[in-house]
Amino acid sequence: MAKRYLFTPGPTPVPPEVLAAVGAPVVHHRSPDFLPAYERVLDRLHEVCRTENDVLLFGASGTGAFESAVANLVSPGEPHLVVSAGSFGERWVAMTTAFGADVDILRYTWGETPDADDLRARLDEREAKAVWIVQSETSTGVVADVRTLAAAAKEAGALVVVDAVSSLGAVPCDTDKWGLDVVVSGSQKALMTPPGLGLAAVSEAAFAALGTSPRFYFDWERTRKAQRTLDAPFTLPVSLVAGLDVALGLLLDEGLEASFDRHVRLGRATRAGIKALGLELFSPDEDRSAVVTAVRAPAGIDGTDVVKGMRDRFGITIANGQGELKGKIFRLGHIGWFDVFDITTQIAAVELVLGELGADVERGVAVTAAVQAFQAASVVGEAADARPKDPAVVGRGGPEPSRT
Ligand code: PLP
Repeated sequence: MAKRYLFTPGPTPVPPEVLAAVGAPVVHHRSPDFLPAYERVLDRLHEVCRTENDVLLFGASGTGAFESAVANLVSPGEPHLVVSAGSFGERWVAMTTAFGADVDILRYTWGETPDADDLRARLDEREAKAVWIVQSETSTGVVADVRTLAAAAKEAGALVVVDAVSSLGAVPCDTDKWGLDVVVSGSQKALMTPPGLGLAAVSEAAFAALGTSPRFYFDWERTRKAQRTLDAPFTLPVSLVAGLDVALGLLLDEGLEASFDRHVRLGRATRAGIKALGLELFSPDEDRSAVVTAVRAPAGIDGTDVVKGMRDRFGITIANGQGELKGKIFRLGHIGWFDVFDITTQIAAVELVLGELGADVERGVAVTAAVQAFQAASVVGEAADARPKDPAVVGRGGPEPSRT
């Protein structure tokens, strides 16, 4: 009997209460058996996205929800600007191009952090109908400063579309306060639900700027019209909606600020453990990097062997590098239903696997370094105020769900 651990930056572990809801008998998507959960999900998504805008729900992965933004906003030949610093930025370059947009690309080397002044300068050179930004570039571990990037785009009169697939619920995303026109996310990351639901929070300004590309399933107006009467244009994945209802309840019970605080400390713990092993970080050594920690494979070691060793020796799934980073880095996820012991498990296994692969790693100190970094209370502002006083309950904001 081998225990399995899912430590990728999506999909992520799903709490047992959520799994129980997903496993309940299937109900009809237009019946009173379903509508209360549907209504709660739509309400709770407003809170999680911090918006008064419509939040449209689709039976689709995050890429599907993103395609809804492209299909609704892009008209062939129109100028758009994509900020790309990794695999997902490149996906949005390909998708906007596939829909016929005249795409300008503010492109960074993978691992770099996009900068608002660069964006401002590029928009001075060429206007864009919309600027497409990735908040958490899961391929590199970089979390961009969406607030300042959005401000630069707004100054130039562009709409702002944000890929928050791996960040919503884990790091702040203040949709209305920051003037974000579209925020896209998916169920399987910090929202602690199995894959299969995508969402897009859409502003009135975005609705006023709809393009001419063909669309049907992802037509925003069709979905908005239905949702406003608590209906759905197509059959929703009712079991996933039931699960998301419970998961969003857990997240909001913990409190968004407390969740952001926990993710900051999970990131710190991971980086402290990795550094104590004597390894080099690929992702930035900063609090904003709270979603996934990317680690350079040590000299002479193929990162793919680390990923395989973790899986084959210990049943632990972590992520390889993507694209040009395959084999050069490995990525340790910490979004959603994670606590510090999910970090120490990963760090201990990295230590053992690298040791077996012949790497020169510091032995016996990394787990302690990770725990100490997690415990250090130094988050300031709203997040610190929201944190429960008893360190024993930090991180859940309510009764501990039982672990299986
Ligand atoms: N954007 C980011 C930042 C992601 O991390 C992912 C998934 O890993 C996606 C988009 C794509 O989402 P999905 O795989 O749900 O289509």
